[in-house]
Amino acid sequence: MEPLPYSELVRLCIQAPQEENGESIRRPQSEPIELTGVWQIDDPKSADGILSGAEPGYVYRRDGHPNATSLGGILRRIHQADEAILTAQGMSALAAAALAILSPGDSVVIGQPVYGKSTYLFATEMARWNIRVLQVPANDEAAWIKALSEGPKLALIETITNPRMSVPDIAWIAKHCRSAGTVLMVDNTFATPLLCQPLNLGADLVMESLTKLVCGHSDAMLGLLCGRKEVWSRIASVVSTFGLASSPLDCWLTRRGLATLPVRLDVACKNAQHLAEGLSNHPSIQSIDYPGLTSHPHHEIARRQFQGRFGNMMTIHLSEHLFNDATSFIRKIRASVPFCPSLGENQTTLSHPASTSHRAFSPAELSSMGISQRTLRISVGIEDTDWLLTQFLNALHR
Ligand code: PLP
Repeated sequence: MEPLPYSELVRLCIQAPQEENGESIRRPQSEPIELTGVWQIDDPKSADGILSGAEPGYVYRRDGHPNATSLGGILRRIHQADEAILTAQGMSALAAAALAILSPGDSVVIGQPVYGKSTYLFATEMARWNIRVLQVPANDEAAWIKALSEGPKLALIETITNPRMSVPDIAWIAKHCRSAGTVLMVDNTFATPLLCQPLNLGADLVMESLTKLVCGHSDAMLGLLCGRKEVWSRIASVVSTFGLASSPLDCWLTRRGLATLPVRLDVACKNAQHLAEGLSNHPSIQSIDYPGLTSHPHHEIARRQFQGRFGNMMTIHLSEHLFNDATSFIRKIRASVPFCPSLGENQTTLSHPASTSHRAFSPAELSSMGISQRTLRISVGIEDTDWLLTQFLNALHR
C-alpha cells in the first residue's frame, strides 16, 4: 500500500476527537476521559449485539471503551491497518499476538536482536506451551531463508533494534515470510508510527510500546497491536479473555502525547543527528551506533524505510583505553542527562544495557552482541541542540 502523505499523518495526530461517522451532538475540542468500568444497556438484545460486535456501543471496559476507540482509531488509520487494539502495555500486545496466533507445536522465528523481555516471552514462557523458538540475526538473509524453510507460524523483528540500532530490511523479510506462510510481526516502538508504517512494507502485524515515544512523558503504560484482518480473528477475544485490555487514563494520556509527537519527534531526530555527528571521532568514544551516520551499516535501508529521518535512539561505546566502565561518565552527566532506563521521554535519558535491559545475558553473549560495560544507550529528547552536545562533551572531558 502507498504510505499516506506525511501532512495527513500529522493531521490525524492533532485533530480534535471525532466520532468515526462524523456525527455527534457533543463536540468537545479536548477529549473527555470516560473512566466507567461498565455501561447501562437498553436490553439483552442490545447487550448481545454490542458484545458480538454487530452493534456499536460499550458494555464492559475490558471489551472496549471510548478512549481506546479514539486512540486506536487514529493509530489504525496512520498504519493503514484493517484492525487495531490497545493493550495494557507493549508486552500485553506481544502476548496477545503470541496467544492468538500460536498453538502448541508451532515455531516462532525471532530476528535478533529484540527487546530482552520479548525474547523471554517466546523462548521461556511460550516454550512452556511447546512453542519452539528459532533465533536468527535480523540482517542475515541466508539465516532467514533457512529458518523460514522450517515453516514457522510467526516471525518477530524490530524496526530499529536495541541497543546496536541495526535496521532490518522489512520489505525483504516480509516478502520471504509471505512465501513461507509465516505471519510477520514488527515491533515498531523505536521508530514510532510517524517514522515507519511496517504494514505498508508488507508486515502482517505491528506492535508498539506506546509507553515510550508516543506517550512521551513517562506517565502512561500502553501497547498497540494492529494489522491485517486475515490474521486478526482471535486477537480481540484473547485481549479480553486474558485480561490484557487498556485503561482509559493511559489511553487519554497517550492520546494527548500523540498530538505533540510530530514536533517532539522532529526535534528529537534533529538533536540525535547533531549529537551523533558532534560526538563522532571524539577521542573518548570508541564507536557510535546511529543509523543517521553514513558509516552505519544499515544507513541506506534506514534512509529508504524512514524517508530521511533516523530516530532519536543511539548507542555510544566509551573508549576502552580511557574508561573501565560507564560509571564515572553517568555520575558526571546525570544531573542534566539522567540515567533512567526507559526511552522516548521529552528529556534525554541514558540507559546502560549491560546492567538493565540485557542483564540476563552472560558476558560472552554480551560481547557477541557488541555490548560492554562501556556501552550506553541514549534516548535523545527535545532540549536545545547545542546545550545537549555541550553536556556530553563536558562529561567526556578527561
Ligand atoms: N518493545 C520494545 C522495543 C521495548 O523497548 C519495550 C519496553 O522497553 C517493550 C516492547 C515493552 O513495552 P512495555 O514496557 O510498554 O510493556
